[in-house]
Amino acid sequence: MDLKIKRKSTRTAHSSNLLENYPHDLQMYKVPPIENIRLHEFETLALERLTLLRCLATATTLKGLRIYSNEWREFVLNELRSQGLKYYANLCDISGFGTSEADLQARRKDHIGHFILRLAYCRTEELRRWFVARELELFKLRFMTMKSEAVVEFFKINKLCYTNISEEEKNEIIGCLRESTMHQKVDSLKFYKVKFYEVLDLVKSRKVYIQGGYAYIPDKDFISVLSAQYRIHLKQSLVVACHHLGEIEQDERLVGLLKGLHQSYSGDDYSDTKVVVPIETLDSLSVKSFPLCMRQLHEQLRLSHHLKHGGRLQYGLFLKGIGVTLEDSLRFWRDEFTKIMDLDKFEKQYAYNIRYNYGKEGSKKNYSPFNCLKIINNNVGPGDCHGCPYRHCDPSNLKNRLKGYGIEHQALHDIVDMAKRGHFQIACSKYFDAAHNTELGLGINHPNQYFEESQKILKGENKVEIKKETKQTTIKKEQSKQMEDIDFDEISEWNE
Ligand code: SF4
Repeated sequence: MDLKIKRKSTRTAHSSNLLENYPHDLQMYKVPPIENIRLHEFETLALERLTLLRCLATATTLKGLRIYSNEWREFVLNELRSQGLKYYANLCDISGFGTSEADLQARRKDHIGHFILRLAYCRTEELRRWFVARELELFKLRFMTMKSEAVVEFFKINKLCYTNISEEEKNEIIGCLRESTMHQKVDSLKFYKVKFYEVLDLVKSRKVYIQGGYAYIPDKDFISVLSAQYRIHLKQSLVVACHHLGEIEQDERLVGLLKGLHQSYSGDDYSDTKVVVPIETLDSLSVKSFPLCMRQLHEQLRLSHHLKHGGRLQYGLFLKGIGVTLEDSLRFWRDEFTKIMDLDKFEKQYAYNIRYNYGKEGSKKNYSPFNCLKIINNNVGPGDCHGCPYRHCDPSNLKNRLKGYGIEHQALHDIVDMAKRGHFQIACSKYFDAAHNTELGLGINHPNQYFEESQKILKGENKVEIKKETKQTTIKKEQSKQMEDIDFDEISEWNE
């Protein structure tokens, strides 16, 4: 790949070149981009592509939607629109060969984004597998939405020389075609004749008629041929990209970005909240709307009147992100810490860091709350309370804690099971559902996202179907009544 990065260039490709380079919405990404782009755009396009691929993964693995079903497709498109990726939603929804500036720019971003992610996902077998699977899903989704004239154009542009069999040939084998195809109205379908090894997925699922080493496939299944080709092409390209990584990473501006991209958080950073949350409500909010990582820190602070540095940072920034003001934050920490130390010590040793989090000291940056990936990948030592409980807690402690929170047996089992298998964010999503008595299956990527989604439900802004009243609901109702004046000494054993 010859993707040059320029520090100060403002040049972008002109429309005429764009039309030449990108005549169609759907691409097979055979030729890498060669234009100069700014580093900022490089990073943006990488994160946008990552968001797109993660939407596809969420639809299948977390939501459990049947791949390529209408619900799956709707979910993906809505997610893309809600994440501000309208151009990707359009590319997936109305694939064709429009020529407006917006169409051309969308294809350009699609092209560059794909090639950047190749560089980020070529370094290990596991990353390659994930990338190929998602890109194939995307390719199929887009191919399936294309109108027939767009398909013909796509074949022409990509020099795909497939012609359908003649009516005579079709009539000779029509009986066999009817028996071997899943589709209705076989007589009106066009059939292609391809080498059987080009459609092994159809052969394996016995959905195709084979004769003399050729498979006869209806046009509706032609995507199988293309997907097989595209898969081979992608796998080979990733190997080639991997061989060139050394050269590309001589540019130190790219090393960190490409290496860490698969772990990057690509959503809202919650650094600019408009709401104000009074500290008097924190005890009750911690029960109703905090994810486990923050609930644990809140309880530990109330219990021991102290948190170590990692905990203060993780929890302090989270509180800032949900809307606790600097003044309230200082008051909150001061009230707790001065139960075990004098005011002078607090002011000298701790107040500075709280003001620092709010950008009032040191480099005066507006620091963002930590996202899940950062918290999950943090080092947590003995005696620390920060981190992600699904990753950093011993499974039996996690189990006891969830039991103490009134999570019912099946949900508790599912959460702990997910945590044991390393699916920490899915465990968190299951906890969200258990705590709110819903079946949303949210993709949780940020503790502040968890908080916001919870508040939307509790304030009725998000009308969700609440599961039938269960034993656990009753437990939780009783629990929340009790939590108005919770005794934090009772929960000390969970924090040991
Ligand atoms: S998955 Fe994220 S929000 Fe949930 S507990 Fe872990 S770090 Fe917190």
